[in-house]
Amino acid sequence: MSKAQEIEDNFDQENQDTTFTDDYFNDELLTTDELIYDSNAVAFNEWFFSHSTVIYNFTKAPANDLYQLWDTVFVHPYKFDILKILDSVNIKLVDDMSYYVHPVKNIITSNFGLRHWRYHFGIDLKVKVGDSILCAFDGMVRVSKRSKSYGNVIVVRHNNSLETVYAHLSASNVKTNQIVRAGDLLGYGGNTGRSTGPHLHFEIRYLGQPINPATVIDFANYKLVSNELKLNKGSFKYLIEARRPRFYKVKKGDYLGKISKKLRVPVKTLCRLNRIKSTTPLKVGKYIRYR
Ligand SMILES: [Zn+2]
Repeated sequence: MSKAQEIEDNFDQENQDTTFTDDYFNDELLTTDELIYDSNAVAFNEWFFSHSTVIYNFTKAPANDLYQLWDTVFVHPYKFDILKILDSVNIKLVDDMSYYVHPVKNIITSNFGLRHWRYHFGIDLKVKVGDSILCAFDGMVRVSKRSKSYGNVIVVRHNNSLETVYAHLSASNVKTNQIVRAGDLLGYGGNTGRSTGPHLHFEIRYLGQPINPATVIDFANYKLVSNELKLNKGSFKYLIEARRPRFYKVKKGDYLGKISKKLRVPVKTLCRLNRIKSTTPLKVGKYIRYR
């Protein structure tokens, strides 16, 4: 893995941690010391600005008027605060010229929601390594890369303004900026990144914020719940719970590494949230913030 790739992956992780808008890969235990913070920030900035990866007003991009940002590097580049900006919106998921295709016809192994102390911002579908993963709606590939956490991951911006994320793939079959149709082969099911077994981690996002895929897709029948999706502030109410800081009471015999494993939060995150060093002794009975 190149240094730039490494920095970018770490930035992705860090971004997730601070914005709370991202998948915490709950099924995948975060090992400690994988996240690099301040020391990489400078290096990252240098690298970032030497790559023109963000395009504002890329008119060819689907829903460009809405996003006004086309970022081909980061899975999660958006800074919209949906609870502040969204009133209510009616999204036409498909029309006479387009349709929905189920990404992979298999059972759900993990639902959207709170899991292992953290929020799971997608749905996991069982796959066999090599299974075809199909594009859900028409659109354009925004990201196709390998990430430490997501593994081989593809993000598609759709003409209907949603974005879908397909993670842990064994291989990708598409390139960034490629126009795709619903049903196109995006890649193959796998177990890459922080994954404990072959599965597709599938997310649906609007303005960067995850929506419970089960409110959009009828996973038992591999079809849309409805051709229209109504979104309002209530659709994102879970974010209030997901963003709430959480604390853990230090017990006798606890140390950061142990707490990190128990709560599945990297030591560096614990240090940052509590403004302590990894060597700082913990006092029994004190509370330590873990998100
Ligand atoms: Zn998942």
